[in-house]
Amino acid sequence: MNESPFEDGDRLLLHPFDDDRFHEECGVVGVFGLDQAAAAVALGLHALQHRGQEAAGIVSFDGEEFHAHRAMGHVAGNFDRPEVMAALTGRMAIGHNRYATTGASAMRNVQPLFAELSSGGFAVAHNGNLTNAMALRRRLISRGAIFQSTSDTEVIIHLVATSTQPTLLDRFIDALKDLEGAYSFVCLTPEGLIACRDPYGFRPLVLGRLGDSWIATSETVALDVIGASFVREVEPGELVVIGSNGVSTLMPFRPERPRPCIFEQVYFSRPDSISQGLSIYEVRKRIGAELASEAPVDADMVVPVPDSGTPAAIGFAQQSGIPFELGIIRSHYVGRTFIQPGDNIRHLGVKLKHNANRPLIAGKRLVLIDDSVVRGTTSVKIVHMLREAGASEVHLRVASPPTTHSCFYGVDTPVRSKLLAANMDEAHMRDFIGVDSLAFISIDGLYRALGEPGRAARSPTRCDACFTGDYPTRLTDQEESAADLYTLIAAQ
Ligand code: SF4
Repeated sequence: MNESPFEDGDRLLLHPFDDDRFHEECGVVGVFGLDQAAAAVALGLHALQHRGQEAAGIVSFDGEEFHAHRAMGHVAGNFDRPEVMAALTGRMAIGHNRYATTGASAMRNVQPLFAELSSGGFAVAHNGNLTNAMALRRRLISRGAIFQSTSDTEVIIHLVATSTQPTLLDRFIDALKDLEGAYSFVCLTPEGLIACRDPYGFRPLVLGRLGDSWIATSETVALDVIGASFVREVEPGELVVIGSNGVSTLMPFRPERPRPCIFEQVYFSRPDSISQGLSIYEVRKRIGAELASEAPVDADMVVPVPDSGTPAAIGFAQQSGIPFELGIIRSHYVGRTFIQPGDNIRHLGVKLKHNANRPLIAGKRLVLIDDSVVRGTTSVKIVHMLREAGASEVHLRVASPPTTHSCFYGVDTPVRSKLLAANMDEAHMRDFIGVDSLAFISIDGLYRALGEPGRAARSPTRCDACFTGDYPTRLTDQEESAADLYTLIAAQ
């Protein structure tokens, strides 16, 4: 067995449910001016299920009252009962898929969050992560605020509630000015929807139309599923107000150079989504083609780690002329809610999620394409499985640069000390994973796949901090907790 750099390495290596991926935190949908708006929101959330599988919720407004349904679990299970949907009345609604990164995985953190403010009801759904949420929370608590959840999103409700501005919109804008980090919000008020994207545009947010109704959502696939047409992206730093008087737009922030998350292109967004005018699927194929040019290999077949490695593997195969084959078959029926095996079963190395296509790969030299290597635990398991099935050589090509830093902008990442590339150089990673050769796409190659000449070192156009450590914003909570730690150590 490979020697793990981590204390709990054995458990990580063998746990059959540990998919060792970055996880997107959330997906959001808002619909205005449509009969049964909540049903359209539920469909949109279903298309965004990949952005969060832990919980889902919808809040609607029927002109007099707000209605809410929030529950742990997948969208299909939460909104499949007619009585649930029938209770979510109204022509406007917002919804949220959650994968917990901030705040414990508990019902009280399931969004949209809702509060009755002096100016009326206010519901908010948030994709992203605030980097000063703890600092704001401490400030609000010192002034008497009582928090109901441990989610970073709740600070926005308290900031809106305590703003002295005259209107709800003014209060919301006032609150936004205190926030640092990543946020794409859709909010529901008695007047309509507010959609807002932080000045860097870390997380996506798009606008669509269906007849006279408007939709604001994380990805274009949520528009496709309800038959809406794509209008445009909400610009970084833009706030869009949608109500019975139409649509208006505000730019309330000091302008920043936008830096949307580059990992959305590599892994998070669905391949059938369009982002910044680019088809995610085509970008991933181009990443594979760049990888084939940068790190060619003599092999018999190109095999993706399904499903996320598939478009890059097609691009690699087309560029290299090596045949593309499904050498690994993925079960689509393994969910997070599947019965957890006891340790005795777990340690058998159960191959629940991926299985080798044994007759195809036996005796063959494989180029294995994966989207990323985080802790390396999945890579170890997959390479071991391919060798057991008879592959004569396994060459791993990774469709993202080495992941050396954690994300603080709404993606669930291990702490830095658990990231394989933060602990090992490429030769050690190759030995640890157990492959014949290993190569990652370069950071410039990744930008080339996005149609740019390379990474502009002084003014990069994307957030790529998990590969470079170049965080676009302050990380106030990290700085303050480090300062607290130093104070504690100094006092000892
Ligand atoms: Fe995306 Fe990585 Fe930046 Fe997080 S740190 S926003 S995952 S590029």
